[in-house]
Amino acid sequence: MIFARENGRTIPKEDKIFGIANRAKEMAAKVGKDKVINGTIGALMDDEGKLIVLKSVDRVFKSLTPDEYAAYAPIGGTPEFKEAVKKAAFGKYEPKGFTEVCATPGGTGAIRNTISNYSAPGDRVLVADWFWAPYKTISQEIGREVQTFRFFTEEGRFDIDDFKKNVLELLELQQSLVIIINSPAHNPTGYSLSVTDWRNIKAIFEKTPQDKHVALFCDVAYIDFAGDEEQYRQFLPVLDEMPENVLPVIGYSASKTFTIYGMRCGAMICIAKTPAIAIEFKQACEFSSRGSWSNCNRAPQTIIAKIYQDPELKKMVDEERAEYRDMLLRRGRAFEEAAKECGLEMVPFDAGFFASVPMPNPDEVAAELEKEGIFLVPLAKGIRVSVASVSEENCRKIPARIKACMEKLNK
Ligand code: PLP
Repeated sequence: MIFARENGRTIPKEDKIFGIANRAKEMAAKVGKDKVINGTIGALMDDEGKLIVLKSVDRVFKSLTPDEYAAYAPIGGTPEFKEAVKKAAFGKYEPKGFTEVCATPGGTGAIRNTISNYSAPGDRVLVADWFWAPYKTISQEIGREVQTFRFFTEEGRFDIDDFKKNVLELLELQQSLVIIINSPAHNPTGYSLSVTDWRNIKAIFEKTPQDKHVALFCDVAYIDFAGDEEQYRQFLPVLDEMPENVLPVIGYSASKTFTIYGMRCGAMICIAKTPAIAIEFKQACEFSSRGSWSNCNRAPQTIIAKIYQDPELKKMVDEERAEYRDMLLRRGRAFEEAAKECGLEMVPFDAGFFASVPMPNPDEVAAELEKEGIFLVPLAKGIRVSVASVSEENCRKIPARIKACMEKLNK
């Protein structure tokens, strides 16, 4: 570094995923779009590679008056947004615990505020060993590190034993602990924890020292693209039954659910056992917001509030989203089937924007695939494919290409 201070962070020269996506664009410009598959993008694209934006949401956006988008929003979010986003996150479920909401710039802001308020500088944040890289970036940015537990057993189930081992170890070392669980439709694997997995997690906390505090951050960024909305919310009552020393925090992202990625809208919602814990959540998180981005964008808050105030409009948004979700699910299934057909191992997959393929040499395989015009993201333990950004037809083609590449390099 020349002038900038590293401050315990590892700062790369460029964002890895955006770097690969740029190379994909360059190649497409040179050899033609039809010869390039860009499976790097974390947004839902149509079969021609164009960003999908819900028309119903776009119409509401275009109808906003200056007051509805240009005025400052309160630090914690507008009252109408807070009401709406609770419904958006919980669906038909009404939590028994005390809920408070703090608006955030995307789900990312919710992660940042949770780590800054529920862990101490120098602490470790517990995440799965397949994880969304910004968890580490955000942790480092505010003086924390991540520690990983093994996500899957040999049989491809949630590894509750390794989770427990890491929780107990960190609770010995730290007074407080932030745990991030991204489910359903986990990024990067597409895995969804079952209700039983969540009950097993609860059982662990019932036996951990009650004087240690755990913030259980449930990153539900992809909840509306996993399948039936209510079925995938069935784990919520388990959060309500957590012991008092565990604070479930829902990390909600409007980016995917409403296809407004760039508008930077999300929320963190606590389900607290006492009003005091909920009020403290609100005060501490609003303080953090004020000290980092101040208030959030008003326009998407107004859009979401309007959708929830108008049942007809809400129905239109839901129906439109359901069509695209079904398209996404078909792509995921096509990838799974093709992987099975050619004998390519996948990391346990359920649904969502991404699927992953485990391998010992992901960087090498990804570089080789790039030469063939297939752009995917190498991670520590495998390669991530965004089925959200690739047509069903190409989802069927990719597994055999990965397999062939792995065999070629491993000869
Ligand atoms: N969590 C996960 C696992 C994600 O993949 C994303 C987006 O890619 C987010 C949270 C939050 O995204 P945003 O800040 O755009 O809402």
